[in-house]
Amino acid sequence: MSQRRVSKEIQIGRVTVGGGAPIVVQSMTKTDTRDVMSTIHQIKELENYGCELVRVAMPDIEAAQAIPAIKKGIFIPLIADIHFDYRLALMALEAGVDGLRLNPGNIGDPGKVTAVVQAARERNVPIRIGVNAGSLPKPANPKLPIAQQMVEAAMQQIQLLESLDFDLIKVSLKAFDVPTTIEAYQDIAQKIPYPLHIGITEAGPPRTGIIRSAVGIGTLLYQGIGDTIRVSLSAHPREEVIAAYEILKSLDLRQHGPILVSCPSCGRAEVDIIKLAEQVEEELLRIDKPIKVAVMGCVVNGPGEAKDADIGIACGKGKAVLFKKGKKIGVIEEKDFLSALMAEVERF
Ligand code: SF4
Repeated sequence: MSQRRVSKEIQIGRVTVGGGAPIVVQSMTKTDTRDVMSTIHQIKELENYGCELVRVAMPDIEAAQAIPAIKKGIFIPLIADIHFDYRLALMALEAGVDGLRLNPGNIGDPGKVTAVVQAARERNVPIRIGVNAGSLPKPANPKLPIAQQMVEAAMQQIQLLESLDFDLIKVSLKAFDVPTTIEAYQDIAQKIPYPLHIGITEAGPPRTGIIRSAVGIGTLLYQGIGDTIRVSLSAHPREEVIAAYEILKSLDLRQHGPILVSCPSCGRAEVDIIKLAEQVEEELLRIDKPIKVAVMGCVVNGPGEAKDADIGIACGKGKAVLFKKGKKIGVIEEKDFLSALMAEVERF
């Protein structure tokens, strides 16, 4: 794995981003921001799953007016997503948001951009420039590959902020196309010192979206690129947080809750190992300690194949061997497979 790109450190509320800080997991609410109770409820649920930064859409003044109440009800830093209307950005800053996501070029009028930047600077609130392949401004050279057009669009926005002496910047360059996204981030990572928020946009429902995101985000992280991540899914945002941590854990970049090792099952298995693995996966969601748990389909290969697991089960016909660090610690009946395994996990 490549050494991590060291980016300029910024502070979003109490969360440090860049400068070698751990990669931060971010998500976005899917509630109507104006509905304060539902939005708080969803953010609190995300907090429970380990979400560290949350973004809310801010489509109008009513949504901006909801910010103080939302802020009071949550713990993690809040980022307001704003398009075009600079008054919403000013209201959001006034209301105490910890970060803004906006493209200053969309605001247009230089006086309005300056007002937003000044208000953000006074409060030490960073601005994320978020370029999406689907909504690029008209490029100077339309023949440029999309990845380069994305970088060019971001550079224009960055230069606009820099010209106002503002450097609390985070940048994202998202596309649905994974190679385009990777190329754009690789390019901009060499051009700017700012932290990068990475993700694949509109990645789809979980089955396909998690794979697209894991390939795109995972490739970049492996190359040392990325300071915050979001897995964008057509699903409840908790799925985004769970998937984000799985990506980080699979690259050994963060420890967060248990890791489940489970065999794919084969003709040697004498129990429904797929069902058992799913049940264990569900149970492990409530454990927040880093523990490696193995669910294996046979006693012949199970313990050996999962010998670096902390706790494991290798199932045979009607009975299973429970093992700890690859060593047998007991034999259990089929009716107790799940409960005995989970009891051992709790003890560990
Ligand atoms: Fe098959 Fe046993 Fe390997 Fe599972 S652990 S895939 S049951 S050989």
